[in-house]
Amino acid sequence: MKLVMFDMDGTLTDSFSLDENCYVLAIQQALNLSDVVTDWESYPHTSASYCLKEIVRATRGRPPTAEESHAVQRRMIGLMDEISQRRGRGTSEIPGAAACVRELLQRDFAVAIASGDWEATAHYKLTTAGIPFHNLPAAFCEVAHARTEIMGCALRSAAAHYGCESFERVVYVGDARWDVRACRELGWPLVGVAQGAHAARLKSFGATEVIADYRQFDEFLAALARATPPAPAG
Ligand SMILES: [Mg+2]
Repeated sequence: MKLVMFDMDGTLTDSFSLDENCYVLAIQQALNLSDVVTDWESYPHTSASYCLKEIVRATRGRPPTAEESHAVQRRMIGLMDEISQRRGRGTSEIPGAAACVRELLQRDFAVAIASGDWEATAHYKLTTAGIPFHNLPAAFCEVAHARTEIMGCALRSAAAHYGCESFERVVYVGDARWDVRACRELGWPLVGVAQGAHAARLKSFGATEVIADYRQFDEFLAALARATPPAPAG
């Protein structure tokens, strides 16, 4: 059995600008903090929990408590809801993503999700975007800070879920530089999801296959088949 593991933000769901603002605003409002560094690539791990930990540590000299983390998550969902209603549009799917997940399952691919988001905020976004995730094995930032560890955890969940001790092939689908880095580290083939200048950047980081979206399902299947692990960083 072949496994296709998806990142969420920017890969299945399109909420980046909404999401980033809501994340920062939620931290500011729930914890009453003002200085938040939003250059996410400057953080060694880009997960919601890790960045929150560093942000709180920088100002309060200690990591956030579980209650503070939950307060940020609740505020973030509240903000996403408010902004979506005001705009009449919230998190949406990357075009064709929901149908693509269904089609992969129909064709007996194993499908899983590995995201650096919290489970609660991820569920909110996946639900809003209409991605059929309820029966998919998944791992979120509660299990680890490092993306490679979140992916490893999702792989173990997928093995248990599909009753498959080892998969014939595992391909990760992601949209960010840290996805390229994680796949290089794990030696996993990667399909990038990006358009225009962002697609060119992903390729320059080492992604060999990049698709704009999932509307051409056959092209996505071909990219899955051709994908290789990113070459070692030059
Ligand atoms: Mg992403």
